[in-house]
Amino acid sequence: MSKVYDFKGNIKDNELEEIKNIINKGGVVVFPTETVYGIGADAKNKEAVEKIFIAKGRPQDNPLIVHISNYDMLKEFTCNISEIEKTLMDKFWPGPFTIILNSNGTLPLNVTAGLNTVGVRMPDNNIALSIIEKSNTPIAAPSANISGRPSGTNINDIFDELNNKVNAFVDGGETNIGIESTVVKVDKSVINILRPGKVSLEDIKALGFDVKLDKHVFADVKEGEKIESPGMKHKHYAPSVKTILLEYTEDESVMINTLKKYVKNNSDKNIGILCFDEHKELLKEYNVINIGSVNNVLEISSNIYTKLRSIENFDCDEWIIEGVSRTGIGTAIMNRLTRACSYNILK
Ligand code: AMP
Ligand code: MG
Repeated sequence: MSKVYDFKGNIKDNELEEIKNIINKGGVVVFPTETVYGIGADAKNKEAVEKIFIAKGRPQDNPLIVHISNYDMLKEFTCNISEIEKTLMDKFWPGPFTIILNSNGTLPLNVTAGLNTVGVRMPDNNIALSIIEKSNTPIAAPSANISGRPSGTNINDIFDELNNKVNAFVDGGETNIGIESTVVKVDKSVINILRPGKVSLEDIKALGFDVKLDKHVFADVKEGEKIESPGMKHKHYAPSVKTILLEYTEDESVMINTLKKYVKNNSDKNIGILCFDEHKELLKEYNVINIGSVNNVLEISSNIYTKLRSIENFDCDEWIIEGVSRTGIGTAIMNRLTRACSYNILK
């Protein structure tokens, strides 16, 4: 069984030393960040990074985000950083913000999937920062889950699927944000959001930058189409049961009526509904699980992956998920749910 370190109350120095030794000897550690749990290894060690791909079953063409704890680390593996990129890092680090920078070519090829760029993030989580700082090396870490499945936001949800595939789990309790970082790439002076997250388009715009959502944030990748980020073409975030995303409307009666009509027209199926707290009572004759308040999208983002995993334990043929407004962090939630539902959208 993989070793579990309990850092929920506090970081224990002697155990942090053990974790550092695992990383420095080329091992793999699951650890918390403020977004989701990561599965990390020394980014400078090719064999260690290979173990992440094996543990996750991750496609080799999907590059990893490199996590750092200070700006000196950045200089080791990037080059030609522009003023705009510097401003963005200063503003949003440490935080749920990944920026694609020019690589200086020193990292192993499996970290960058052979690209001449590298995704970098400084997480805003004391456990993550302590592990990186103590190990004194950048840590490559994708989300801790088997590829294609919902990301892990607590150890309980991911223990069985990663047990014995990693050297250790570091338990820091529930992650705060619950969905992965915003990923951006600066293209001349325009900031292109490749993956939305807690740092929103509105947050970047407020700094006075030109910013856009990449067209593949909400559209599937067609055969032969050029993409900015290899991860865009892979299956993501999906539970093992069929899910359908209900588009948000401000008028709640429209959502409720669409739901009821769909269930009625599919009476041969046993349908479950992941609904807003406010709709639970209105839908009480159905199989419902609440996902948080429609007035508190941060609560929904922190719950969503656990909820997507929990529906696998029920005997339903399919689940409808109530969608949120596509603004702020809602854009990120809808990006994940659109993919989790394989672009099956109910309007
Ligand atoms: P995750 O697996 O959750 O860590 O997701 C990392 C995301 O960042 C994936 O969608 C990757 O394709 C993307 N990514 C990482 N490095 C790069 C890069 N150099 N260029 C473009 N996208 C990247
Ligand atoms: Mg992932």
